[in-house]
Amino acid sequence: MTALYVLGSGSRGNCCAVEHDGAAILIDAGFSSREIQRRAETTGLNLGTVSAIVLTHEHGDHSRGAGRLARRLGVPVLTAPGTWTRLEPRMPHAEHRPLGLCSRAEIGPFVVTACPTSHDAAEPLALAVETDGGIKVGVAYDLGRPTAAVRYLLRDLSAIVLEANHDDVLLRTSSYPPVVQRRIAGSSGHLSNRAAAELLVEVHHPGLGVVVLAHLSRQCNTAGDARATVASALRRAGFGGTLHVADQDEPLGPIPIKHAAGRQLQLGL
Ligand SMILES: [Zn+2]
Ligand SMILES: [Zn+2]
Repeated sequence: MTALYVLGSGSRGNCCAVEHDGAAILIDAGFSSREIQRRAETTGLNLGTVSAIVLTHEHGDHSRGAGRLARRLGVPVLTAPGTWTRLEPRMPHAEHRPLGLCSRAEIGPFVVTACPTSHDAAEPLALAVETDGGIKVGVAYDLGRPTAAVRYLLRDLSAIVLEANHDDVLLRTSSYPPVVQRRIAGSSGHLSNRAAAELLVEVHHPGLGVVVLAHLSRQCNTAGDARATVASALRRAGFGGTLHVADQDEPLGPIPIKHAAGRQLQLGL
């Protein structure tokens, strides 16, 4: 049994987990260690089964609780080398394992692969976690634009957590100054609902069973807008899985992830 948890997602914190046969791996730890513990408890995720914390990049909304939590759980922190250069002074006692761009990291029943993303951080990554049962979960957020490398990493997934940060119109009409609007919409910023929908149509295949929209902007998006934009595109692509929208405050999960053959078609997005 494989399950996905999104303990929260947005500009004030991101944390996901993949659980498989009694083992788990955390992807990002952007809340305090105590808050991650609280959210894990509400979903039934046992943090005692976590064998590593993998971080996409050093921004606080992805790394805030990583050092303390890693020490408490006695597990390593995996990041790109450039990311670690920024984080090490903040978590001097953490055991670090470098995550290379073209290499695989094996952690218990999981294999983690990564690719670079276009974002204003030291060495940001999108991640794919594959279980020894062949189920593959991708996490891609803080993504200015989907590069060829990201598209390649996100092929053949069973489940994906993908950024749907803003609605183009809500961003343009927001109270953000033009310079901030340009940064958010720019190639080192964040993915819009429309861009997320286009990317999902591109990487869609019959085995994709779960899509979670993540990192929604509070000012420039709503769960309804993100869902509506993506659901209609996915429906046209023939998606028969489940579509979720992650929330900043309410944890999601456990969301069961199955192989395509064992998956029930769920219509009515
Ligand atoms: Zn970021
Ligand atoms: Zn972020």
